[in-house]
Amino acid sequence: MAGGTVTLESLVAWLARFAELMAENRSYLTELDSAIGDADHGSNMARGMAAVMAKCDATPSAAVDELFKQVGMTLVTSVGGASGPLYGTFFLRFGSAAGPLTELDAAALGACLRAGLGGIVARGKAERGDKTMFDAMSPAVDAYDTAIAGGAELTDAIAASAAAAAVGRDATEPLVARKGRASYLGDRSAGHLDPGATSTAFLFQSLAEAVA
Ligand code: ADP
Ligand code: MG
Repeated sequence: MAGGTVTLESLVAWLARFAELMAENRSYLTELDSAIGDADHGSNMARGMAAVMAKCDATPSAAVDELFKQVGMTLVTSVGGASGPLYGTFFLRFGSAAGPLTELDAAALGACLRAGLGGIVARGKAERGDKTMFDAMSPAVDAYDTAIAGGAELTDAIAASAAAAAVGRDATEPLVARKGRASYLGDRSAGHLDPGATSTAFLFQSLAEAVA
C-alpha cells in the first residue's frame, strides 16, 4: 500500500499469499471436491498457483496488465479442471481492465475486480445460487463497491470484500448445484460447501492480508 493504492508489489504479494493458501489447503479443497466433484480442486489450484509463482519469479512484470496476462495464461494452460479457465479468465480480465498501470487506486481496483467477475460469468454462465465460485465472488465485489461508495479506506473495503466472500462461501452449503460437475449429483450436492467458492474466499482473504 502507498497513499491509498495497491502497488504492483502488493499484487504480487497477493498472488504469493494465495499460492501459499492453496498449498496449505490442498487436502481440504480436494476433500470438499470429493464430496460433490472429482476430488481434484485442491491439486488443481495448488499446481496452478505454484506454476504462477514460478513464472512471476522467472519473469517479473513491469505493469499490472502484463502481470495478470501471465498469471491468467499460466492458469488456463496448467490447470485441467474447470477452475483453471475460470480463474484464468478472472485474472486475464482483471489485467486488461487495469492496463499498463503500476498501481491501482480504489476505483481502478474496483473496476478490475468487476471485470474479473464478468470474465467468470462470460465463461461459466453461473448465476447467484448455482453453488459455484460466483456465490463467493459476486458478494465480495459488491461489498467492495459498497464500502468504497460509503467512503471507506481501500484496506477496509478489501477487508469487507473478504468477509463477504466468506459469508457467500458458507451460504453455498445448503444449495443444490446447477453448474459444473457437482450439478450431476442433483439434490445430493446439498449439504456440502462448494470447493470453488471456498478457494475464492481464500482469494479475497489473500488480498486482504497482502494489503493489510
Ligand atoms: P472440475 O469441476 O473440472 O473438476 P475443479 O474441481 O478444479 O474443476 O473446480 C470445481 C469448481 O469450479 C466448482 O466448485 C465451482 O465453484 C466451479 N465451477 C464449475 N463450473 C462452473 C461454472 N460454470 N461457473 C462458475 N464456476 C464453476
Ligand atoms: Mg474437480
